[in-house]
Amino acid sequence: MAAKNLAGKVALVTGGTRGIGRAIAETLTAAGVKTYVCGRTPGDLPATLSFLACDVRDPEAVRAMINEIAAREGGLDFVVNNAGGSPHAEAALASPRFSERIVQLNLLAPLHVSQAAYPYLKARGGAIVNIASVSAVRPSPGTSVYAAAKAGLLGLSRSLAHEWGPEIRVNVLILGYIETGTTDATYGDAEKQAAIGRNIAAGRLGRAEEVAEVVVFLLSPAASYITGAELQVHGGGERPP
Ligand code: NDP
Repeated sequence: MAAKNLAGKVALVTGGTRGIGRAIAETLTAAGVKTYVCGRTPGDLPATLSFLACDVRDPEAVRAMINEIAAREGGLDFVVNNAGGSPHAEAALASPRFSERIVQLNLLAPLHVSQAAYPYLKARGGAIVNIASVSAVRPSPGTSVYAAAKAGLLGLSRSLAHEWGPEIRVNVLILGYIETGTTDATYGDAEKQAAIGRNIAAGRLGRAEEVAEVVVFLLSPAASYITGAELQVHGGGERPP
């Protein structure tokens, strides 16, 4: 367990109602962090997690949510910008509306959440972890808009680390294939996922809990000299063809 010295801290995990965000939120809670999750719908959450409804593409709603958490808890220490994703779309067919929504969710929402949280995190020497994807650094057909947004998130993370340091640390994870409840729709059935896994150095897809442990480490004092870092959590990545 990576969690150390986090008891009494307050965190927000965007998109923490299921998948990777849910695992991050539960791992933070187990480490003694009062953890808020947001999403458009609550889903089936344990009582240990506090839910606030928020579409993170709406900057006003984001600001209201962050202020609400800070008012309830007397401040905020950590933000995990996890909400994201995209259905595949060929670049030639992606409509302006589709592209706008993908960029809003994967790039602008993390910016707006971070901006709203900035005064609170600064006051407490807080930290941010952003969740990007290998799509940002490796071409994958059908993901161009998502890839561009996640690549933007890498640039945003590096820039914020410098603008907001030394008070606030900002790091970003570059995730490979991670199993979640929604992985089937993206990566295919169990057989297809096993085939993908065989082509990865680690021999399998990653688990959400394995991502969560890295996030908790990056938020913890154990990572006090890590900021502006891009950490690949991809099991070594896919073997070249
Ligand atoms: P899931 O689809 O399983 O979960 C997405 C979460 O985000 C849900 O809680 C969802 O809740 C929330 N969400 C989606 N849209 C919004 C919105 N507009 N406002 C607020 N919340 C929203 O995703 P994963 O767990 O698979 O992915 C998590 C992150 O990891 C994403 O950023 C994704 O890009 C990244 N990633 C995932 C990989 C994987 O293999 N799974 C690989 C690489 C990167 P609701 O629908 O109720 O709003």
